[in-house]
Amino acid sequence: MRTIIENAAIATVDGSEGAGTEYRNGHVVVDRGVIEAVGDGPAPPGLDAQRYVDGTGCLVTPGFVNTHHHLYQWATRGYAQDSTLFEWLTELYPVWAGIDEKIVHTAAVAGLTRLASTGCTTAADHHYVIPRDGGDVFGATVEAARQVGIRLHGVRGSMDRGESAGGLPPDSIVETLDGALSGTAEAIDRFHDPSPGSFVRVAVGPCSPFSVSEDLMRKATELARDKGVRLHTHLAETLDEERQCLEEYGCTPAELADRLGWLGEDVWFAHGIHFSDDAVARLGATGTGVAHCPTSNSRLGAGIARVQDLVHAGVPVGLGVDGAASNEDGGLGIELRQAVYLARQKNGPHSATARDGLWLATRGGARVLGREAEIGSLEVGKQADLAVWRLTGMNHTGIADPVAALVFGALPPLALLLAGGRVIVEDDEVRTVSESDAATALAVASRVLAEKRS
Ligand SMILES: [Zn+2]
Repeated sequence: MRTIIENAAIATVDGSEGAGTEYRNGHVVVDRGVIEAVGDGPAPPGLDAQRYVDGTGCLVTPGFVNTHHHLYQWATRGYAQDSTLFEWLTELYPVWAGIDEKIVHTAAVAGLTRLASTGCTTAADHHYVIPRDGGDVFGATVEAARQVGIRLHGVRGSMDRGESAGGLPPDSIVETLDGALSGTAEAIDRFHDPSPGSFVRVAVGPCSPFSVSEDLMRKATELARDKGVRLHTHLAETLDEERQCLEEYGCTPAELADRLGWLGEDVWFAHGIHFSDDAVARLGATGTGVAHCPTSNSRLGAGIARVQDLVHAGVPVGLGVDGAASNEDGGLGIELRQAVYLARQKNGPHSATARDGLWLATRGGARVLGREAEIGSLEVGKQADLAVWRLTGMNHTGIADPVAALVFGALPPLALLLAGGRVIVEDDEVRTVSESDAATALAVASRVLAEKRS
């Protein structure tokens, strides 16, 4: 099955920083799920194609990579609208205590559909709420990703510090240390596919140092390294977290992570906002990654991550939408602009470009998830994960630069979105699942959760 796209502007993002090689009028050829050719002018002659796309007026980019999400939260949007992180968690934990595998599946289908419709082809989902009687909530997310057709990095999360142990979450949604470890090992054995181009990978993800015991943080590293999978947690999101860490452990969150074995090329942190110069250098030296979540950070007023400093220190940085309870939009497309604008608010107008935003969303994210050899750029031999953005409508036509149209303009409609060569979106409509069915099911799931809580 071959697809030829011609006459389009192309941003390959093949550089190690910034967007890389671009063509004003170029081609991309996809064969059996892999990029066969990319370059200037028309496609090489003599190729048979089962699908031909005239990309006149379009921009082709790599599919976006979402490095941090909580898909189940798609059913709990609109709560705790004006709260700090800790206030927000305290209001939401009792709502989340009502989730089960059916609600998680419904929320994940809807959340992944939203991601796909905003150009995303790979998503990391951090699932750390495991109610005792909720059924197979992790498997429900994997199933949803298979239906929607985008790549999933399922992070099997956990918490073992409930209210009775001085933590924030109710005891009904925390596990014992042994339960958390065996549940995580089981998720890896059931679903992790390490093969190149795989659509499901599993990572180990205790929720955060303030909801997890030191013991679980430490044992999680042993489990992940034994199984050869990645590690993920929330870190340095707010100053409240830093204060608590200093009181409880006598060190900053970054120092605690170091002490617990949580630095390395196999680790990525969500947020990573409040890092000292020393911590930034240490993250860079160890190759520890960061998922930058600019909209969620803004909604919770958590602060602005030092993205430029992190990138310059050699830290892999990608973008994340974070859970929809702190980002009701839930789409990846707007995060590019949000990331560039926040960087400029922090460090001035020369500190980030539209191409930096595109790089973070693609190659940067692929690096964070350890998949730079497979995805994140349009290069021969890589997976055919790509987005064809239509810039011919009133919102975009005439914008001098197609990359600026994508990042600074309204999010354009998708002429086509491929993941591993499979059509996920065509003519701005998700083709793998029914959006209206997903919306109907979501309304029910959200209502059920709200009623359970009251
Ligand atoms: Zn999060």
